[in-house]
Amino acid sequence: QGEVSSGGGEEKILVLVRLRPLSEKEVAKNEVADWECINENTILFRNSLQERSMFPTAYTFDRVFGGDSQTRQVYEEGAKEIALSVVSGINSSIFAYGQTSSGKTYTMVGITEYTVADIYDYIHRHEERAFVLKFCAMEIYNEAIRDLLSADSTPLRVLDDPEKGTVVEKITEETLRDWAHLKELLSICEAQRRIGETSLNETSSRSHQILRLTIESSAREFLGKDNSTKLSASVNFVDLAGSERAAQALSVGARLKEGCHINRSLLTLSTVIRKLSKGRHGHVNYRDSKLTRILQPCLGGNARTAIICTLSPARSHVDQSRNTLLFATCAK
Ligand code: ADP
Ligand code: MG
Repeated sequence: QGEVSSGGGEEKILVLVRLRPLSEKEVAKNEVADWECINENTILFRNSLQERSMFPTAYTFDRVFGGDSQTRQVYEEGAKEIALSVVSGINSSIFAYGQTSSGKTYTMVGITEYTVADIYDYIHRHEERAFVLKFCAMEIYNEAIRDLLSADSTPLRVLDDPEKGTVVEKITEETLRDWAHLKELLSICEAQRRIGETSLNETSSRSHQILRLTIESSAREFLGKDNSTKLSASVNFVDLAGSERAAQALSVGARLKEGCHINRSLLTLSTVIRKLSKGRHGHVNYRDSKLTRILQPCLGGNARTAIICTLSPARSHVDQSRNTLLFATCAK
């Protein structure tokens, strides 16, 4: 019980690394950038003062993006193919993983918008099919799920529906009218997230955010007659809690519970990702955390996954950067 086979798909997880530039503030504090992308696949630690034998100097991934890269490029050359598989009825998830301030939100906001723009473009070019786009958004904080499209902060329950699989009960699901409607919903999410922040102290670094876009389509000529051409799939944009939280499980006092929970969701995700990366065979314990439970239909089997690991180049962040690359290495 609680163990679900990850299915037979052989699709690997796409692992991308994005380095951000030093911020003006960091430059003003005389921070030094220790990391450099030397080609499309290799990121190098180039601080010659450090002892080289203690850790690898060069790390290779499916694709790395340097400090001067644009989000458009990360999308086009990295996330696009996986995000758009949703129009063919294939579930997918795009994750941003990294320490707080490394660029997760900066990257995910852009990628979400580019994806939706391309989906609308696809819809306009395929008039033979009728499409319905649905959007929902949630935040996981302390293993409690909050609806980001509702002012009601009562935690939502996750249920196993015999037909639909894992569902979040009572979550607000909006049918998207157009691009402007999406922008409106995204700003509601932003506002909801900020309300949480003032009462809970920078929640965004401690909570996971999932934006989910579901696309249903059917061939127009069979509309209302025949469900055989009906396709339905979701793409998830997941802005994870700061990865430094995973290392803080043993923090003291009131934060203990929080640290453990965040550790649990991030840790379970790491375990799931590591298992999936090894050929997607065997059993994966999705039920160990809310995050993996909610995402289960979009992780195993035929689903497609990309992880964008974001990195600060600053010398003062070198330990966290190495941890992030370690996670990235395990995922590939
Ligand atoms: P996180 O969500 O990981 O905590 P943010 O996305 O909020 O980090 O980024 C922290 C700061 O760095 C923000 O001010 C953001 O605008 C800036 N930033 C992040 N990535 C980049 C980038 N690739 N290029 C320029 N600025 C960036
Ligand atoms: Mg953020």
